[in-house]
Amino acid sequence: MKKKRFLKLHELYESNGCILYKGRVVVPQGQSELIKEICEGFHCNLDHIHPGQNETYHLIKKYFWWKRMNDEINDFVKHCENCQRGKYGNKSVGKMIPLGVPTGK
Ligand SMILES: [Zn+2]
Repeated sequence: MKKKRFLKLHELYESNGCILYKGRVVVPQGQSELIKEICEGFHCNLDHIHPGQNETYHLIKKYFWWKRMNDEINDFVKHCENCQRGKYGNKSVGKMIPLGVPTGK
């Protein structure tokens, strides 16, 4: 019988009550509130910069692991209100100020 494991068990270990996988905290299944908080922390709280789907995924995967994390992170970013607003109107880009003419000095 062929066994397919998503994580290699020998790479899992426990530290301070957290299960770690290759140094990343494993988020147990069904922790949707926690996952939402993690996504918000990495996507929404970076000095008002909202990184894209890939960037958010790469930031989070440095520290956390959970099953289907890529899908859930993409979904979170896709439905982020701030990103949606930025994309679909209500843009206030401010006043355009032309650069000065170079003096050649
Ligand atoms: Zn966003």
